[in-house]
Amino acid sequence: LTKTTNFFPPLLYQVATGFLDPSNISYPFRKLFKKYPNFHFHMGELIEIRETENKIVLTTGELSYNKLVIATGTQTNFFGNDNIRTAALPMKNIGDAILIKNTILERLEMASRTKDDTERKILTTIVIAGGGPTGVEIAGMLSELKRNIIPGEYPELRNISIDIYLVDGGARLLAPMSAHAQQYTFGALSDMGIILRLGTLVKDFIGDSVTFTDGSEIIAKTLIWSAGVTGSTINGLKPECFGRGHRILVDEYNKVFGTESIFAIGDTALQVSDSGFPGGHPQLAQVAIQQGVKLAKNILADEQGRTLSPFRYHDKGSMAIIGRNKAVADLPKPSLHFKGFLAWLMWLFVHLISLVNYRNKLRTFSSWIVAYLSKDQYLRMIFTPSVLEDHSKGFLNESSKKNI
Ligand SMILES: Cc1cc2nc3c(=O)[nH]c(=O)nc-3n(C[C@H](O)[C@H](O)[C@H](O)COP(=O)(O)OP(=O)(O)OC[C@H]3O[C@@H](n4cnc5c(N)ncnc54)[C@H](O)[C@@H]3O)c2cc1C
Repeated sequence: LTKTTNFFPPLLYQVATGFLDPSNISYPFRKLFKKYPNFHFHMGELIEIRETENKIVLTTGELSYNKLVIATGTQTNFFGNDNIRTAALPMKNIGDAILIKNTILERLEMASRTKDDTERKILTTIVIAGGGPTGVEIAGMLSELKRNIIPGEYPELRNISIDIYLVDGGARLLAPMSAHAQQYTFGALSDMGIILRLGTLVKDFIGDSVTFTDGSEIIAKTLIWSAGVTGSTINGLKPECFGRGHRILVDEYNKVFGTESIFAIGDTALQVSDSGFPGGHPQLAQVAIQQGVKLAKNILADEQGRTLSPFRYHDKGSMAIIGRNKAVADLPKPSLHFKGFLAWLMWLFVHLISLVNYRNKLRTFSSWIVAYLSKDQYLRMIFTPSVLEDHSKGFLNESSKKNI
């Protein structure tokens, strides 16, 4: 792994908007596994697989394996656009969320100081690309920041219209969810003051100008990028091992095609053998968790000479939160749709119990209670490691610097 902590991506957007502390949704791997004497943690980035030698090469050394499980997830897809990659803010990990929070807070400060109306408008206009759950959830949270916090804490911006755009190339928000969920979300976000632009894709982002495929343009300093993900290239795997979205093709036991002892699970794996999901599984936490459990059982079964069982995804449904008392939930069997307060309670419960330990559950629950009752949270602070401001000190080596 490239980092030392496990974290819970569904709540990243609350870290990005200063409503949750990063430590509420993270936990150190070493502590998580300290009770297992046969578990070893090695921090490093996978550079290459040497299949014939049963070895992997990392940025921090080499490891030998009997069986190799690849669970490298996905990375943000900028669709080959370097302007967007360098200037937009992705939302994929804790570092991204902290960068979004710091950037928004810094730009609000700049907007409060400037005497130039045009500059103030650019600094206070935010475009979110991607109307999936991440885009919807961050739009909802920014709307709460705009309504409940900015008027009280930024008196200089009290009479300014802060524009938050949510843009998606499709005709609907939350594309994988039901039409009930999509319609409700559209109405709820519109009521919350989010400007929705559907059916057009972001084409470029140069010098504060976000341009779209329909020829239109929004002048904004901040573009939050939640428009897609892609698998990553892994040196040592043959090109024919990769399928759509650069995901690794696996059989029904999650074994990588054409290999003997290499497996892939989670977002990075593309498995088309499950009859319910002929195009591959959705890139969701439940798929990753269920594949991990199934693969562990199959590896043990294989060691003990028992029959292996193929992976079948058990879809437990999907949900998205929009804002205070507003969420949507689709349950597959029986087919049920929930919206509003009930779906919001369901969302809170499911996300709270999914956090890794009681400490995180308790701290997140108390943060939510405070935020709900006070319509506020006090985490709007900018922290930047000093080492980033003075690289000459050399406290961190190159490989760890980029993963702070
Ligand atoms: C903002 C956001 C919100 C989400 N919300 C939801 C939700 O509400 N519900 C839901 O079901 N799913 C949600 N997801 C998707 C969910 O997080 C993923 O499906 C799930 O995390 C996939 O698990 P994984 O183990 O395959 O990959 P990941 O959780 O992405 O883990 C991959 C790990 O591999 C490491 N890694 C990558 N490349 C290398 C390398 N070369 N060498 C070493 N280590 C490497 C990464 O650092 C990372 O720690 C969300 C995702 C995001 C980004």
